[in-house]
Amino acid sequence: MSLAAAPIEKAPLERYIAPTKPSLVGLTRAQLADALGSAGVPEQQRKMRVQQLWHWIYFRGFTSFDAMTSVSKDLRAALAERFTLERPDVVAEQVSVDGTRKWLMRLPGETTDRPHEVECVYIPDTERGTLCVSSQVGCTLTCSFCHTGTQRLVRNLTAGEIIGQVMAARDRLGDWPGGVRPTDGVVPTGDRCVTNIVLMGMGEPLYNFEAVRDALLIVSDGDGIGISKRRITLSTSGVVPNIERVGAEIGCMLAVSLHAVRDDLRNELVPLNRKYPIAHLLDACRNYPGVSNAKRITFEYVMLKGVNDSIADAKALVRLLKGIPAKINLIPFNPWPGSTYECSDWEQIEKFSQVVFDAGYASPVRTPRGRDILAACGQLKSATEKLSVRERMALRAMAMTE
Ligand code: SAH
Ligand code: SF4
Repeated sequence: MSLAAAPIEKAPLERYIAPTKPSLVGLTRAQLADALGSAGVPEQQRKMRVQQLWHWIYFRGFTSFDAMTSVSKDLRAALAERFTLERPDVVAEQVSVDGTRKWLMRLPGETTDRPHEVECVYIPDTERGTLCVSSQVGCTLTCSFCHTGTQRLVRNLTAGEIIGQVMAARDRLGDWPGGVRPTDGVVPTGDRCVTNIVLMGMGEPLYNFEAVRDALLIVSDGDGIGISKRRITLSTSGVVPNIERVGAEIGCMLAVSLHAVRDDLRNELVPLNRKYPIAHLLDACRNYPGVSNAKRITFEYVMLKGVNDSIADAKALVRLLKGIPAKINLIPFNPWPGSTYECSDWEQIEKFSQVVFDAGYASPVRTPRGRDILAACGQLKSATEKLSVRERMALRAMAMTE
C-alpha cells in the first residue's frame, strides 16, 4: 500500500446495451407518459393511464400487462407489443444460516456472452427487512479493503436496473399484496418483507447520481412501493460535489464511509480522499440539507487491525465529528480472499466502541451478517469473476472459526 500508486479511475464505463423491447420498470411518471404516447395514447388520457399503470407496476408488482383489468384490452396489447415489465432475473440464491439471502441478479436484456450481473442482499430481522442494493456493476474506485473495488468490469446501472433489484427481491419474497412468503429462512413479522433500503451494494452511488435519484424517488413514491425516505440510506465514499444533491433532490438518509481520521491514512484506504479530503467531506456533511438530530448522518468506520483502530483514533474520531448530528457505525472488517487486512480483535473493537459510546453515540458496532455466503459489506463481487470453490470453502471455514 504505497501512497504513490492507487489510481482513482481504473476503467472506462462500459456501454449499456439496451434490450430490443424496453422495460417500463424504472420510468418516471413523465417518461411513462411519453411511452404511452408512443403506444398511441392521446395526450389528454395519458395522466389517467399513467396513474393506472403506476399502480399495477409499483403497487401490485405485476410482471405482465395481461391482468391489468383497468386497462383496455387494446391498450394492453399495444403496450405488450412495444414494452416489457422486465426486472433483473435472479440467477442464483444463497441463504445464510442467519437468514441473510444473497441474490445474483442478471440485468434485463443482457445477451452478450458475459452478461452483466449484480449482487443484491436481503437482511431480515424480526421487525424489519433491509435490502442492500447495487448502483453499478463493479466500482471505479479502489478502496484498498473492499472486494468490489477489485472487479474490473464496470458500468452504471440504469434507474430501472436499480429499482428492478427491489422489485425482483419483492417477487422472490412474495412481498406484493396477496403474495406468498417463503417458508425457509427468516422474514420480519410485519406486513412487509422489505422495509428498508440501503445503497451499500456494489458501486459508488454518487458516480451514478441521476439513475440512483430517479430510482429512489420511485421507491419512496406513496402510490407505489412507498418505502419512506427515512428508511432509505445512501452510502458514499465521499463524492463531495454530489452530497448536497442527495439532500436536495432525493431527501433520503446519508451514510459516509469515513474509515480514517487523518488524510494520509484515508488517502490509502479510500483513494478518493486525494480529490476530496476529510475537511471538505465533513463540510459537505455539516451543510447536508435537512441534517438535524432527528436526521443524523451515519459515519461508517471499518475496523482494521493495527491500521485505524487505536484508542487515539477513536478519540480523534469523536473530536472530528463534534457539531455534526451523527451516528457512528463500526464495521468489523470482512476478509475476502487476497485481502491484506485483518479485522481488529474483538477486545479492541470493544475498547474503541467504549470511547465512542462515552462520547454519546449509542451501540456503534454493526454485526456482520451473511458472512458464510460472502454477503457482508464490501464482499460483493458478482459471478462475472467468480471465486473458486476452494476460495469459498476457505472463507466459510474462516466464518465458522470466528
Ligand atoms: N461505494 C459506497 C457504497 C458501497 S460500500 C461506499 O463506499 O460507501 C458499503 C460499505 O461497506 C462502505 O462503508 C464500505 O466502506 C464498506 N466496506 C467495503 N469493504 C468492506 C469490507 N471488506 N469489510 C467491511 N466493510 C467494508
Ligand atoms: Fe467502491 Fe465503496 Fe468499495 Fe470503495 S468501498 S471500492 S467506493 S464500493
